[in-house]
Amino acid sequence: MDRRTFLKLGQLGAAAVAGGATLGFDLGKARAEMRELKIARTTETRSTCPYCAVSCGVIIHTLGDKAKNVAGSVVHVEGDPDHPISRGSLCPKGAALKGDIHHANRLTRPKVRRPGKDHWEDISWDDAIAGIAKHVKDTRDRTFVAKNAKGEVVNRTPGIAWIGGCTDTNEFNFLQWKALTSWGVPYRDTQARV
Ligand code: SF4
Repeated sequence: MDRRTFLKLGQLGAAAVAGGATLGFDLGKARAEMRELKIARTTETRSTCPYCAVSCGVIIHTLGDKAKNVAGSVVHVEGDPDHPISRGSLCPKGAALKGDIHHANRLTRPKVRRPGKDHWEDISWDDAIAGIAKHVKDTRDRTFVAKNAKGEVVNRTPGIAWIGGCTDTNEFNFLQWKALTSWGVPYRDTQARV
C-alpha cells in the first residue's frame, strides 16, 4: 500500500466513525474495549463510605503503578457487591465519593488551632499524637472522679468524651473501647457501631 492510498483509507475510516456509517466495519468490539479501559489498569481498594451510619462498602479504583515518584489518581468509585451491608448499592452521596476525594478543601493532614489564635495550622502526625496524649493526660488528671457522692468507687473521667467514625473497623472499635475503659471515660460511641 502506497502513502496516498493509506491516507485515503484513513480519511474514509474517519468519515465512517464521525458519521456513524459502518462501511462493513463492526465497531461493537472497539466500543466495548473503550468501556472496559476506564478501570482496566486500576488498583482496587475496598473501603467504607464515610458519610453516614449505614456504612456502605465501596471499591476505589486508583490509577498509578505505585512507584515512589508516581501519585496515584482515583478514577472511579463504585459500590462493593460483596459487602454484607449494602451489597453493591450506594446512595447519591456515596456514588459521588470521587468528587470528595479530589476536592481541593479535603483535609489530608492534622491541623491545630492554638489558644488565642484565629487560624488553623498544619502539624505532623507525630506532633498531633503527642499533643492529644498530653491533653488526655492533663484532662484525666484534672477531672478524674474516684468515688461518687455516696462514697462508692466509680473511677471515671467525665472530662473526656469520644466519638468514632463509621469507617472504623470492629477491631479498631474493640481496641478503643478497651483503652477508653482503662481511662475511665464514660461518654463514648461510634457513628455506625460497626
Ligand atoms: S452510600 Fe449513602 S447510605 Fe451508604 S453510607 Fe454512604 S451516605 Fe450512607
